[in-house]
Amino acid sequence: RELKLLSVVIPICNEKDNISELYARLIKIGKELSVKLEMVFVNDGSSDSSMAMLKELGASDKQVKIVDLSRNFGHQMAIRAGIEFASGDAVAIMDADLQDPPEVVVDMVAKWKEGYHVVYAIRKTRKEGVLLRFLYATFYRLLKIMANTDMPLDAGDFCLMDKSIVKILSSMPESDPFMRGLRSWVGYDQIGVE
Ligand code: UDP
Ligand code: MG
Repeated sequence: RELKLLSVVIPICNEKDNISELYARLIKIGKELSVKLEMVFVNDGSSDSSMAMLKELGASDKQVKIVDLSRNFGHQMAIRAGIEFASGDAVAIMDADLQDPPEVVVDMVAKWKEGYHVVYAIRKTRKEGVLLRFLYATFYRLLKIMANTDMPLDAGDFCLMDKSIVKILSSMPESDPFMRGLRSWVGYDQIGVE
């Protein structure tokens, strides 16, 4: 598999403090992989200066693309809109707040080159306190028991997907999608990286 264009979809809701650092780290990753980037920033109704910052980046760098939603639709819908727009051979999804270390994408690309269709990140730590961590752990374990689709535990939306998977997800009609659940449901060869 040859990676000519790597898309990165990033939902943005009031991320003015993180956009510059994220952008710089993504540029570095593009250089490391010697690949052309397509950064798809999805502005999800930000009320801070995020949109102005994105426009400025977009004016100086053609690798920056902006999807500006008409209002705040929430994290999942922002991702959904972003992947539909992305045109890369592989498409990464990551949060803007740097809780998803962008550099993990390098490991994800290596797995994609081995032939995996979906490479998802497995969390080693969470920022939340004991109570929320317990509730999250309980939620995902209950979901595993109740849902028909087996979802990996401790995996979030942070992932890299082959364009064939993105095409399938983009064609799904859900109006309130749970992206990491749909991603598992699709099947094909999936693997986690820490
Ligand atoms: N986000 C979004 N729309 C929202 C809330 C958040 O697009 O209504 C974005 C946000 O900018 C970030 C990502 O989704 O890139 C995850 O948001 P957050 O860090 O608040 O979620 P958490 O870390 O608590 O899961
Ligand atoms: Mg966060």
